[in-house]
Amino acid sequence: MARVNVYYADHFVLPLPDGHRFPMAKYSRLRERLSAEFPTLRWGEARPASDQELALVHERAYIAAVAEGTLAPAAQREIGFPWSPAMAERARRSVGATLQACRAACAHGGLAANIAGGTHHAYADKGSGFCVFNDVAVAARLMQAERARRQPGRARLRVAIVDLDVHQGNGTARIFADDESVFTLSLHGAKNFPFRKEAGDLDVPLPDGCRDDEYLAALDHALAELDRRFDADLVLYLAGADPHEGDRLGRLKLSFDGLEARDRRVMEWAWQRRLPLAFAMAGGYGNDLEATVQVQVNTYRVALGYHARWQALAATPATGSGTGGWQNAAA
Ligand SMILES: [Zn+2]
Repeated sequence: MARVNVYYADHFVLPLPDGHRFPMAKYSRLRERLSAEFPTLRWGEARPASDQELALVHERAYIAAVAEGTLAPAAQREIGFPWSPAMAERARRSVGATLQACRAACAHGGLAANIAGGTHHAYADKGSGFCVFNDVAVAARLMQAERARRQPGRARLRVAIVDLDVHQGNGTARIFADDESVFTLSLHGAKNFPFRKEAGDLDVPLPDGCRDDEYLAALDHALAELDRRFDADLVLYLAGADPHEGDRLGRLKLSFDGLEARDRRVMEWAWQRRLPLAFAMAGGYGNDLEATVQVQVNTYRVALGYHARWQALAATPATGSGTGGWQNAAA
């Protein structure tokens, strides 16, 4: 039975003023739905990322300012959340959840998830757009460091970040701008936040109102290009729900079916190459919160299907037919 590991920190609720536009309730609602509908998910509380882990990406002064609540008011406003001890703790744990998902996916091959995370607007020295620390960036660097420690003779772990949140992963693109061991792919609304985009390895800007067919064709093209240009060992997938037509910030027009097809394409791509995949939920701001949660529930359904294939593979004696490469992929 497919037991996908999922890490959560939604019980660290950061206090927001009334009427704040961030839909904090979606995380606990998602956990509720997933627990009810997929009893084989294996839940783990996220542990907080340490200063040392965060420092693989973030500047020490920024980490300390977040911890102590001493960011300048403008820097705090750019994050979009008021500071509180819970905000700082939750940000650390959200990074921890993605780290744990990566380790779980790499340990035996398969998929694992952070029920939040995907905070791709965070830079090395500042937060932005509801993102404090960049969880996928820290996770990519830590997975590289862990493999280098365990297997010092091997080539550097190569990580593909597939960012399908509707907003460009600007922080991630900047962090890895000069790092050839991490490939940053982003499909995003051309006219959406951030209005000054960073150059990632592969950026695919999409027009307002973009629908399923156009989106999926662009994604197929992008994955083929990623394949041509990069030989990945691990995939980090930001499965943002905000390209959905019911999203109030997204500006695109993808249907539930279109988004499920999107998830399937990414997970099929990784499966075909036997690449472990960790995913994070990234953004989702539905006019109807249940619609956002439904997009995310669908992502988990697809992930469970692919994880089951990994488990069937692990249960099958090796035939030497070329499907065993993953064991050494990232572990
Ligand atoms: Zn977004």
